[in-house]
Amino acid sequence: MPKSPAVLVVGSNMRDMVVRSAALPRPGETLLGGEFFTGQGGKGANQAVTAARAGGDVTFVGRVGNDSLGRDAVAALKRDGIDCRHVVVDPKRPSGVALILVGGAGENSIAVAPGANAALSAADVKAASRAFQRAAVLLVQLEIPVPTVACAIRLGRRAGARVILNPAPAAPLPAALLRGVDIFTPNESEAAAFVGHAVDSLRSVARAAAALRTLGPPVVIVTLGARGAWVQDGSGGRLLPAIAVKAVDTTGAGDVFSGALAVGLAEGRPLDDAVRFGQAAAAISVTRPGTQSSVPSRAEIDALLRKVARHPGLASRSE
Ligand code: ADP
Repeated sequence: MPKSPAVLVVGSNMRDMVVRSAALPRPGETLLGGEFFTGQGGKGANQAVTAARAGGDVTFVGRVGNDSLGRDAVAALKRDGIDCRHVVVDPKRPSGVALILVGGAGENSIAVAPGANAALSAADVKAASRAFQRAAVLLVQLEIPVPTVACAIRLGRRAGARVILNPAPAAPLPAALLRGVDIFTPNESEAAAFVGHAVDSLRSVARAAAALRTLGPPVVIVTLGARGAWVQDGSGGRLLPAIAVKAVDTTGAGDVFSGALAVGLAEGRPLDDAVRFGQAAAAISVTRPGTQSSVPSRAEIDALLRKVARHPGLASRSE
């Protein structure tokens, strides 16, 4: 077995608290009779866990509160073999929490209290400089302060890591930050927020991806849910169709895609192969309920890719 490639994730972690009821309560209303689920979440932690299960040697840089939720979050990351020595315990703020209400038809209402995540600082990132030195890939998202993301990207570049920015949730970004990104992975709505026009038809996806490339990232990958991913690089744009599966819960598909893509690239796979690796991981995750609990192992990803190689029709879904 070759040595695992080093992936550094700088990002958020949250505890998801989910209540599923017959309907969403209206303001002022109390609904009795729901079912409760809880799980580890946050885009940073989801992507770190995916990268670890996909075979990466993962370090996570983030902040938790000095509370039981924070201790549970770190314990969960460690169970996946993730190096947490650069996770900072915030002395004042609580751990990040997402309160999610799900109605009978699957509609949801979500309130996120970022807590300690909002205090993840450039100083925290700089304190992890040893992890930057050994990273093949740096993976960041936008659930932490933008100046912290900018600092991570600068350090990542200086250390020679490939920098992936998953711009979720979409937020205004300084031009210099985008010029430091190697691979930019918005979904359709995030791409639309950055380019200022609707991104739905393949023609508008291609146009948005080309426009985003002019802002700096040499590779732009717009993820298109069950349609697949549009890859735009120096040789042009192309659609890599999703692997056809029966989806039951697509929450977190983008996190699983970016986390596994990071490992594919860190292993030195060509771009399109790394994208297919990310798509295989995401395809498995959507066939199961939950977010981190649905993240596949490396063996499962490899098995699906072998199956697709034997039955190419599985990956030829068109619009
Ligand atoms: P996000 O969760 O950020 O909106 P997407 O829904 O675009 O991200 O999903 C990311 C990737 O996951 C897609 O490019 C695709 O390869 C895969 N994926 C998402 N939904 C499905 C699905 N229903 N069937 C197969 N693959 C999917």
